[in-house]
Amino acid sequence: MKWTRFLIPTLKETPADAVVPSHRLMLRAGLMRQVAAGAYAYLPLGHRTLRKIEQIVREEMNRAGAVELHMPAMQPLELWQETNRDEAMGPTLVRLADKPFRRNTVLGPTHEEVVTDIVRAYVSSYKQLPITLYQIQTKFRDEERPKSGVLRTREFLMKDAYSFNPDKASLDASYEEMYAAYCRIYERCGLPYIAVEAESGPIGGDASHEFMVVTDAGEDWLVRSQDGSYAANVERADFASVEKAAEAAPAELKEVHTPHLSTIEQVSAFLKCRPADMIKTLIYDADGTVVVALVRGDHEINESRLRRHVGANALALAAPATIEKVTGAAVGFAGPVGLKGVRIVADQAVTVMQNAVTGANKTDYHLTGVNIGRDFEIAETATIRFAVEGDKAPNGSPLDFEKCIEVGHVFKLGTKYSAAMKANFLDENGKNHPIIMGCYGIGLNRIMAAAIEAGHDENGIIWPLNIAPYTVAIVALDVREAEVMSAAEQIHDALEAQGIDVLLDDRDARPGFKFKDADLIGIPLRITIGKRGLGEGIVEFKRRSGGDVEKIPVEQVAQHIADIVTQERK
Ligand code: ATP
Ligand code: MG
Repeated sequence: MKWTRFLIPTLKETPADAVVPSHRLMLRAGLMRQVAAGAYAYLPLGHRTLRKIEQIVREEMNRAGAVELHMPAMQPLELWQETNRDEAMGPTLVRLADKPFRRNTVLGPTHEEVVTDIVRAYVSSYKQLPITLYQIQTKFRDEERPKSGVLRTREFLMKDAYSFNPDKASLDASYEEMYAAYCRIYERCGLPYIAVEAESGPIGGDASHEFMVVTDAGEDWLVRSQDGSYAANVERADFASVEKAAEAAPAELKEVHTPHLSTIEQVSAFLKCRPADMIKTLIYDADGTVVVALVRGDHEINESRLRRHVGANALALAAPATIEKVTGAAVGFAGPVGLKGVRIVADQAVTVMQNAVTGANKTDYHLTGVNIGRDFEIAETATIRFAVEGDKAPNGSPLDFEKCIEVGHVFKLGTKYSAAMKANFLDENGKNHPIIMGCYGIGLNRIMAAAIEAGHDENGIIWPLNIAPYTVAIVALDVREAEVMSAAEQIHDALEAQGIDVLLDDRDARPGFKFKDADLIGIPLRITIGKRGLGEGIVEFKRRSGGDVEKIPVEQVAQHIADIVTQERK
């Protein structure tokens, strides 16, 4: 392809509203253009990379035995009502409502309902199981804050796969297959990824893994043990118990006046204690019953863990009126001492506290010198908080925290959808069961942006070989010299004949300008052809990732490149 016949609108200036590197560089390299908030056009270069990623994903899905189909983005709201996800998705679900016939139509943010509907129509016997179906399709999610370029958009491409299994062992096997396929996909895309245990909602256990790319542009956090044996999403992370400090002499229980001071910060500053000396008392409504949670003042409660621990479907902070009723005090002065008739769950770290400070269940008062056993009992302990700096992995190795972005997610669903939608099968004995399901998603656009987050320098993108828009760039200097252009075209054609894609920069512009653009768009292998070199029978070869310029005889360069590509293509 010749540059002058293509559309590559590179920008010199950094667009003002683009903050993260992938957003900045995708705009500057002319890969995409924002059309509306959270909706992007992929320009020819960007489109090529996206198609390459898609191809890798498709090949690996097929290799793993998944079967491709295509489902519509437009879906009947009815299907979503069958699983109550019309409500659970909240405002993220895009509903079409401008015309009467569209009132009951949504744009799919995902396809569990549609695929389950298809399977319940055609699959009824164990003989048809297991099967894994997948598609590569546009998803719509009305994300509250689309941001960071194509890392979080309202319209994006996802590969979504769904496994249908007769039993748990079969689900485990499908899950393993998809997990392995995901690893191959990221490896082939040249993406430095890490698989972590993920929070899996009500299903629990080790039923979910996320594939993360560590980058400051991410919005998630993962923890990784320094010995490398443990990694998890911070939402899900397990950690070692907090040990009790040296035994302290029990202080006297005292009520102190703390007028209008209700937050941990205010009270700890006023009483000159550490937040870690305070017990935070949070009052929840779990499926309509009150649950009181105790966590250390410097810890954050993990509501998913609490919800799972108490076995509730829905859990949220209780309304102020409920809190006042339970504690007999204004909001902000709750504490475990004297709290009766409610279920109290203490985080493990609370169980080793001594001489603590907590609300007195009396407006404008706190208690100091609070000790477990003497002043209140703990009947129920669980881990209900997030890991913090200083925590250790379950095996005792210190945990590091890293910012990351999720590029894929594999999930053992169980029978959530099949049971709600009556997608059943008959087993060998003619008994009816809901089909056991797994779901597996990969964001294609996000892979592209994450690859840029992981591969760039101050001059531009450094594409991994397999997903670069073109594998080779030929920079022709002196384009008005017939000899230069003819050599450039010959090399271009020779490479294309070998199935290697090449972009030939045939613009009549200064070398410095062309090199800058070549660096910006990040093509992995670069050949420079100039009049002077040709006089000596050589062209120059350079990798975008670094290293020296090599001089290569003109007649050998095509083979040299072909050898590199054969060796490095995954
Ligand atoms: P996130 O937590 O980042 O919002 P998610 O957990 O909602 O993502 P899934 O429902 O697991 O995402 O979707 C599968 C994959 O689709 C994700 O791993 C991600 O790669 C991609 N994806 C999800 N939401 C978006 C989005 N708004 N823009 C681009 N890609 C997305
Ligand atoms: Mg996810």
